[in-house]
Amino acid sequence: MLAQRTNLFGSSGTAAARAAAKAAADAGKEIIDLTAGEIWSDLAPTIREGAIEAINRGVNRYTDTVGMMELREALARKVSLDTGQIWKAEEIAVTSGAKQALFNAAMVLLNPGDEVIIPAPYWTTFPAQVLIAGGTPVFVDTRSNGYVPRFEDIKAAVTDRTRAIVINTPSNPTGAVYDVQTLIGIAELAINRDLWIVFDECYGDFVHGDHTHHLIVSVVPEVRARTLIVNAFSKSLALTGWRIGYLAGPKEVINAVRALQSHTTSNPNVIAQHAVLAHLQRGDGSYESKLRSQLASARQIGLHVLSSLTRVPVPKAHGGFYFYLDLSDLMRPTSVGGASPTADDVVNSLLSEAGIGAVSGTAFGDPAGLRLSYGIPPEKLETGLVRLVEVLNVWE
Ligand code: PLP
Repeated sequence: MLAQRTNLFGSSGTAAARAAAKAAADAGKEIIDLTAGEIWSDLAPTIREGAIEAINRGVNRYTDTVGMMELREALARKVSLDTGQIWKAEEIAVTSGAKQALFNAAMVLLNPGDEVIIPAPYWTTFPAQVLIAGGTPVFVDTRSNGYVPRFEDIKAAVTDRTRAIVINTPSNPTGAVYDVQTLIGIAELAINRDLWIVFDECYGDFVHGDHTHHLIVSVVPEVRARTLIVNAFSKSLALTGWRIGYLAGPKEVINAVRALQSHTTSNPNVIAQHAVLAHLQRGDGSYESKLRSQLASARQIGLHVLSSLTRVPVPKAHGGFYFYLDLSDLMRPTSVGGASPTADDVVNSLLSEAGIGAVSGTAFGDPAGLRLSYGIPPEKLETGLVRLVEVLNVWE
């Protein structure tokens, strides 16, 4: 009865994992939920004030489809600072979260059958959106290279049908941060083969140790004309529910996005736009620093506990706020039943035996992966990971 299109996608695997953890908690089980793609935190004061001021002024109307001009100008200043280049408001579209920015990008760039290269493990929505837009995802496995694609592998995946490459650095789910050489290689390939780059830097504020987040357009400025930068305040300001993201790219793309968005959602929520504008105008960076140090400390706590893992390598967690475990050594056939367990089995056991919610790598195209979020309160994180280590160290 439904459109054939509905066969192309299921509900997001991460949302399903979150729902399973919530259902167990609602059933009265004590659950430590490590599934969330969001950070536990208070609102930034500037966000609260900006929203309340807009409400008190009685703001209630549509804005320009791709966001208020003042906000687009403020975002253009932000992107200019981030990239070290001059960006204008006409190169920015404000969207309802990064998810809509990515969806818009897929819809305005892809023709039926166009291939899009996506490094795997991947954030689950990338291939789903490509499929919905009529394209074909082509995966490049990064697992044997620390979750950063090898240039040769990306190059080998390019065909006459390739239209775009998705780069997500720092990566969800793996936490990998792309190095400059890899970005240069991909940028030059895109230029030589006339490809688009969709550059998702939603976790760009969270890089750890001596790692640095590099924007591809800063590393290779000539690639800017074929790059769409996707970002949001969902992670960097712990504002997942407020739904403000943006797309930065060539004016023609932004114009097409405006037309598309005018027929889908129109403008993102006006109060949330005012809140983010107030933050961009008045924020002094202290809220961002607080979030960063909260996550850095959670990461240390987590890595300390995970260093007791005996059969699973301790994750690197260079960026974002996820620990990504490689469970390959636990996936050998069991002596009893003979069948190889999958990460789904591990996730189910963790939930039923240890009350831990985690996301299986199958949601990210990796049957041996496991994603754990450390954006939760530290005491819970520590207790949860201690229990998880106990389960994994005796897994059979
Ligand atoms: N891109 C990546 C890599 C993400 O992990 C997420 C959310 O988890 C998004 C985009 C979507 O973010 P938003 O909530 O702003 O739509």
